[in-house]
Amino acid sequence: MKRHRIIALVVLLGLLLLTVTACRSSSFSESERTGFALDTVIRITLYEAKDGTDGEAVLDACFAEIQRLEKQFSGTVPDSEISRINASNGAPVTVSEETAALLSLSLHYAQLSNGAFDITLRPVTALWDFSADRPSLPDEGALAAAVSMVDYHHLTVSGTTVTLSEGALDLGGIAKGYIADRVRELLEQQGVTSALIDLGGNIVAVGNKQGNAWRIGIKDPSNTEKLRAVVNGEGFSVVTSGVYERGFTQNGVRYHHLLSPQTGMPVQNGLASVTIVCESSVQADALSTACFVLGESEAKKILATMDGVQALFIRDDGTVSATEGLSYTLQ
Ligand code: ADP
Ligand code: MG
Repeated sequence: MKRHRIIALVVLLGLLLLTVTACRSSSFSESERTGFALDTVIRITLYEAKDGTDGEAVLDACFAEIQRLEKQFSGTVPDSEISRINASNGAPVTVSEETAALLSLSLHYAQLSNGAFDITLRPVTALWDFSADRPSLPDEGALAAAVSMVDYHHLTVSGTTVTLSEGALDLGGIAKGYIADRVRELLEQQGVTSALIDLGGNIVAVGNKQGNAWRIGIKDPSNTEKLRAVVNGEGFSVVTSGVYERGFTQNGVRYHHLLSPQTGMPVQNGLASVTIVCESSVQADALSTACFVLGESEAKKILATMDGVQALFIRDDGTVSATEGLSYTLQ
């Protein structure tokens, strides 16, 4: 009798130990890190990963990758590939395959949007300092001179040889999306199966949230403390271009960072924000900027020709319009 009890106890303890170890080996503790890069707040949260994934090491790798790409694409870091192109005075510059690919993709979106999206905009963006203590409008003459230099036809990419005959590049409308896609690739390679990547509002949701769709909030442009909508999905990117991100208000007019390549002025077309929802974050980023500048009706025409791309438009008056396939709720 006593012996039986001892055996039962040993078996019970064994089972208990097994359960504990089983739990431990399959559990991945959630890890999150916030940092500042790309001129914005970056937050990466890892929710689920394969057994044995070291969350902290994965986050180290993600932030290192963001820093590497920022150095490559920045127009303000003096020896970045983009700065070298900007200082080339029209001479051919050899760049990495990665930069060449992103520039080719930028040209694709420039063509697609008939120049509404134009990465040769730097002469214009350089005249606007939206984060200055006392921001002011650029000088009209200087703005006109800058606008005359903007034209994506000045940029040619052949293999890894890039020539910019005039002006200067600003990848602000597309680089974050590209970088978010690279971070997602890195996470997937490292065994992460559920995560959120937030590069200053440029969101990539990896996998799903404990078997359910992600719910990604879209800010209310008239009060960014609140949400106007929530979009649902899995393994997708949600990228918004809005008047509230960077800008200032003067005499009741909102001067924001989404600029017309034709006039050099902030675009005023009744839109307060455009959100693009699709798998690729670089596509979502370029299209969010392009669609904002194009305006609602032109944007919808272009979006109608694309597969797997949804959009949500929030107008200045607070009304909302979405493409047919978008899964969302209003708040
Ligand atoms: P955010 O940087 O707030 O995420 P966007 O992706 O819409 O927003 O990018 C806006 C940035 O893109 C601007 O700060 C500027 O650098 C650049 N930009 C502004 N207007 C245009 C445009 N018409 N075409 C291409 N890039 C633009
Ligand atoms: Mg963009």
